[in-house]
Amino acid sequence: ATPTSVMVGTGHAAELGVLFRRGEALQALRDIEVVALDKTGTLTEGRPALTDLVLADGFDRAEVLSLVASVEERSEHPIAAAVVAAAKSEGLAVQPVDRFEAVPGFGVEAVVGGRSVAVGADRLMVRLGLDLSAFTAQAERLAAEGKSPLYAAVDGRLAALVVVSDPVKETSAAAVGALHDLGLRVAMVTGDNAATARAVAARLGIDDVFAEVLPEGKVAAVESLRASGKVAFVGDGINDAPALAAADVGLAVGTGTDVAIESADVVLMSGDLNAVVTAISISRATIRNIR
Ligand code: ADP
Ligand code: MG
Repeated sequence: ATPTSVMVGTGHAAELGVLFRRGEALQALRDIEVVALDKTGTLTEGRPALTDLVLADGFDRAEVLSLVASVEERSEHPIAAAVVAAAKSEGLAVQPVDRFEAVPGFGVEAVVGGRSVAVGADRLMVRLGLDLSAFTAQAERLAAEGKSPLYAAVDGRLAALVVVSDPVKETSAAAVGALHDLGLRVAMVTGDNAATARAVAARLGIDDVFAEVLPEGKVAAVESLRASGKVAFVGDGINDAPALAAADVGLAVGTGTDVAIESADVVLMSGDLNAVVTAISISRATIRNIR
């Protein structure tokens, strides 16, 4: 690539809200065959809301929601904001907590007013030795609708099924379709549970799904997709940073975290994934002109 043509290409891209942090990425994007996308905050709005709180026998809604929100208040995960907002909208107090611990990819735990409280994915509850079978059928039904089932435990007992839903961005389905039109394979990589991820992927026409991926596992997903060709990864979160760095081209959603932006080759100024299509199209047009 001549320096001038790369300058023209990256300049044109910048006008369309696609910032190349490294000029080499313009050339590298041309050879991409697979686009892997993070789900939460990339394909979805990243602003989940609490949709259901299904209590286990003997538990009170206000009590459980208050305990869970108190723990989540200390977490920076988008799920946490959903739970805290729901508690506040029901006029519930957030209580001080001790011994707060975030277990990446699993959930959060703390002691609230002397009671031990845990909130998170099914695997967190399994780790605590809890039996989830009382909620299995409901969790599966909600996951098939694209909602995310989580669980709350209080004093070592399963207390509630906590369900959040994060709307898919209006623009995501069209962006996936346009990536297919460019001849690319499209994958989703997420820490969310498998049935939820499959439901969202099916709605968007996504080809491959990597779900229940632990934070360190996103790099492994990128490596495994490399079997099909060069991989671009698109993400917004702190936990996407290693995959953004490991991919052949990393594209960060500019509405995301600074850590993601610093690990990426390309920054998309808006949250609209059609910018990925723009970036690849400009790359192909520019590099074609100079070969
Ligand atoms: P993702 O960004 O794809 O959600 P994470 O690794 O951040 O991936 O989280 C994986 C899963 O761990 C979440 O989908 C959720 O089930 C659980 N989890 C993580 N943090 C929390 C939290 N603060 N509250 C409840 N569940 C959580
Ligand atoms: Mg994300």
